Amino acid sequence: MWKCTAAANNCISTCCPLNKPNYQQQNEAVGKAAFFDSKAPALDHIRGLGPKRREALSQQGITSLYDLLDCLPRGYLNARQPQPISTLRTGEACVEGQVVSAPSLQYYAGRSIVRARVRDASGSLSLAWFNQPWMARQVKAGSTLILYGLVQRRGEALTLTNPKMLKERGIIPQYRPLPGLPGKVFAGFITQALALVDPAEAETLPHSFRQWHGLLGRAQAWLQAHQPEDMDQLAAAQRRLGFENLLLYQLAIRLAGPADQAGPRITVAGSFAQEFWGQLPFSPTGAQRDTLNRVLQDLRGPQAMRRLVQGDVGSGKTAVAFGAALAAIRGDYQCALMAPTELLARQHYSSATQLLAPFGITCGLLLGGLRAAQRREALDSIQSGAWQLIIGTHALISKDVVYHKLGLAITDEQHRFGVRQRQTLAERGDDLTPHLLALSATPIPRSLALVLYGDLRVSVMDEMPPGRTPVRTRVVPPQRRDDLYQYIREKAQQGEQSYLVCPLVEDSGDAQEEKTSALSLYRQLRDGPLKGIGMALTWGSQEEAEKNKALEDFYAGRAQVLVSTTVVEVGMDVPNATTMVVEDAEYFGLAQLHQLRGRVGRGSKESWCFLLGEPNERLNILTQTNDGFVIAQKDLELRGPGEFLGTRQHGRALGGFGITDVRLLEETASCLEELLNQPSQRPLYDYLARLARERYADALEQTGLH
Ligand code: ADP
Ligand code: MG
Repeated sequence: MWKCTAAANNCISTCCPLNKPNYQQQNEAVGKAAFFDSKAPALDHIRGLGPKRREALSQQGITSLYDLLDCLPRGYLNARQPQPISTLRTGEACVEGQVVSAPSLQYYAGRSIVRARVRDASGSLSLAWFNQPWMARQVKAGSTLILYGLVQRRGEALTLTNPKMLKERGIIPQYRPLPGLPGKVFAGFITQALALVDPAEAETLPHSFRQWHGLLGRAQAWLQAHQPEDMDQLAAAQRRLGFENLLLYQLAIRLAGPADQAGPRITVAGSFAQEFWGQLPFSPTGAQRDTLNRVLQDLRGPQAMRRLVQGDVGSGKTAVAFGAALAAIRGDYQCALMAPTELLARQHYSSATQLLAPFGITCGLLLGGLRAAQRREALDSIQSGAWQLIIGTHALISKDVVYHKLGLAITDEQHRFGVRQRQTLAERGDDLTPHLLALSATPIPRSLALVLYGDLRVSVMDEMPPGRTPVRTRVVPPQRRDDLYQYIREKAQQGEQSYLVCPLVEDSGDAQEEKTSALSLYRQLRDGPLKGIGMALTWGSQEEAEKNKALEDFYAGRAQVLVSTTVVEVGMDVPNATTMVVEDAEYFGLAQLHQLRGRVGRGSKESWCFLLGEPNERLNILTQTNDGFVIAQKDLELRGPGEFLGTRQHGRALGGFGITDVRLLEETASCLEELLNQPSQRPLYDYLARLARERYADALEQTGLH
């Protein structure tokens, strides 16, 4: 479908389908860089770029002018129009006012607070800077300031918290801090790069294609994205850059895992599903039944299955995966199940040995940290086929693992893996491509699934096993923190357990950060409100032995309270835990909060989830629904797709491309469909495929979703 949803100021007359261009004749209009394989210009002409800074950029994958320009601001402060103080509400705002009197500096529990007050014609407002004692010197009584910050309600009055002082009004780009490069220096590099870039050289999309989709030229888009004249120009720039990158990213994913490969044809008896479900301790939900049937149908077919099963936390995806595994094994193939954490792999291993015991299959566990002899033994069992079901972590895709006859590759919590990892596991068959089944508990809207999982067919499990009591959720303002800890204390005394999740492991040392760290919260609670209660502490990179001890203490009920980072997001299954507290909930995505909430409500007792933070529209969504899909859709609308897509290592990968409009996802997906299906578009398709491979070679190694 060809539809122009371009911003109005951008919409060109080619929206009429009659004017649809023929791309066969358009090599002329694409930049030389693209067609003649000449490299993107190097950073040589940037002044002030010594070896150290060059290294800092290169660490971020920035080695050319174009890479640099692709580092879009992570956000913009819209400080064109300061708001009158009397009209302020909570949320981000820009104000312009005169400082009433000299600021005060106080210390409180080891933290500094600088307070001041500004006034404009409509009223006055208090200002507070935490952990920035130097602000006491910078803020001068009587001076007029343009300030941008977060308006919060503290008691009765409003306070502007940690405001930035701006030099002038305007749309101010905010760059992600890069290690070793002060923000100001980086902004200076960008300005130079904008001046150095040659628009004709840099162009990647044919002129007529751009016209057709209402897209700015690449260089102009860079200019408006880094130094926007107004919000419309900014939107047009984001559209252009987002369009190109989403299109190429989808293309790269499809190229990484091509459909229509011949797969092992597995014979599955007609009575298989009934027999399988009959042996489990519960009867399946309708969704589980349907999904397994779809999967079995795929396994019987001549092509390798490529299927993603999406189902909310607790919807029972594991049983479906085991059903598929058993079918493959009965058909004389091996099955590998890969989980993102050791914790989860172990858990799957123990459920597999229980649930699949009646069927008499052999199952083994392969983890990263095995001793050499153990590892050798495991590898032998895999190679000889002695293990039929192999469960493990990333260890499953390491080079020395040779499968006997891999027929089915399953990845659990797919959103924690990169496209390439999933693909690598699926390439471990010998001559035939094994079937691939990916499971994901992070429900994502269809539009996003098109991009992230464009190479997979999606099944949705939208039904929960019966007998679950939905978790109740409240947003708790930080002032009521003590009441909350008191509640946890009482619960612990009644024998119920609680999770406390923090955004950081340790205090970051960054003055701007007010985020709570697991370490400091643990110490503070242990010596204060939760004194005498059994507590455990864990985080992702904790030493394996310590981590296991902490988790075992919590599983066994020796610890009543588990303080952690988001490592507990997947795999923890402690039915006795009835309270989930998320500190600084504002810093998390809604989907992630929902996932964390799924850790409680697993037993018969009523469970609660408390989100510490100022109540706002976003957090309130979680109090209103337990439906992961609804939450994901709202989150997508509120945060914009760019925040969902991206890679951890390189700040500039997809997430940095200013993809702010949800409609862009669908638009680029249908554009790609069109390119694929129309023979006349072949030259353009081939050219874009080359670009896609180049640009996203490393992005595919990384996790796609945040
Ligand atoms: P997820 O989809 O989050 O991976 P799991 O597969 O871990 O969910 O299932 C969560 C829990 O629900 C497990 O303890 C599992 O045994 C149980 N379960 C799964 N399916 C059913 C069902 N149909 N009826 C009752 N309990 C079920
Ligand atoms: Mg699961």
